Amino acid sequence: MKDITLPNNAPSASPLLSIVGPVYNEEALLEEFCLRVIEVLETLGEPFELVLVNDGSRDHSLDILHRMHARDSRVKVINFSRNFGLQAALTAGLDHACGQAIIVMDTDLQDPPEVVPRLIAKWREGYQLVYAQRAERAGETWFKKVTASAFYRLIDKITNINIPVDTGEFRLMDRKVVDALISMREYNRFMRGMSVWVGYRQTGITYERDARKAGETKFSLSKMVRLALDGITSFSYLPLQLATYLGFFVAVLSLVFLLAVLLLRSFFPDFFYGQATTLAMVLFLGSVQLIFLGVIGEYLGRIYDEVKRRPLYIVAEALGFEDGGQPPADRP
Ligand code: UDP
Ligand code: MG
Repeated sequence: MKDITLPNNAPSASPLLSIVGPVYNEEALLEEFCLRVIEVLETLGEPFELVLVNDGSRDHSLDILHRMHARDSRVKVINFSRNFGLQAALTAGLDHACGQAIIVMDTDLQDPPEVVPRLIAKWREGYQLVYAQRAERAGETWFKKVTASAFYRLIDKITNINIPVDTGEFRLMDRKVVDALISMREYNRFMRGMSVWVGYRQTGITYERDARKAGETKFSLSKMVRLALDGITSFSYLPLQLATYLGFFVAVLSLVFLLAVLLLRSFFPDFFYGQATTLAMVLFLGSVQLIFLGVIGEYLGRIYDEVKRRPLYIVAEALGFEDGGQPPADRP
């Protein structure tokens, strides 16, 4: 990799562009990420900052971040007290970024820094939200591709906001969008949906998503399922309403069934021996009720999370922020 010389402690006053990157065990690619992003941003000739949020990494990511900050004060670091998850890391990054255009991207180089100037060009055209859509997902398993694509299509169908298909967190947001986002302090956060919910002029560009060159994905199947459930429950009541629909459907069906049985029994007294049917019906309805208890539980648990109003993350250390990296008082 080309070694570029970084100006030591270059001025960081009022950056126009902020890059927000969540970091969780990314020691293998982090330095290359910082250098490539800085290289790309320097060609644009605008003041910029990198706000990198260390989400409780257990490897040497934090050392690398310290080193990068010492070499270039435009690299700012927020260090969480533990792993709070990607959505919390993104929120912290947005809370602390002070640019007029804020670009969120993964720090594993799967979102190529070279796409950033294209996002900025769209912003200059007057769009307030520019999301990057994946044209290609190199190096992903077929399982991830199929489930991801099914999820995006499902959420498009059942919610009343149109989350663009095949977008990740990689996007550019105008200050206005970010201000709106950071005023939304919900605990269960599905940022890619929330940023669309905010509104303003939105557009997308497509890019080829690279394969992860080193390290491994932090998203296990169970984390993906959680995120998918957060996305669905944050934006749709349909799972709850399904219980009502199904209830009505079964009620009508059982009335028809009852009538049929009454009629048949009055003409043929021996017609209906119902034991097995009764058992099957009871089991069926019992399991449907359990499923919907579970659905209600998903919503209830999230409501419980919200009413506790815990802070979304805890900052152990912040480097490069004049105010010590504390979010303003109105943001818990
Ligand atoms: N990440 C994070 N906290 C977590 C998990 C992931 O900050 O608990 C970051 C990670 O460092 C990366 C981004 O989120 O920058 C996306 O993670 P990953 O590459 O593992 O996801 P994938 O690209 O496989 O969907
Ligand atoms: Mg990745």
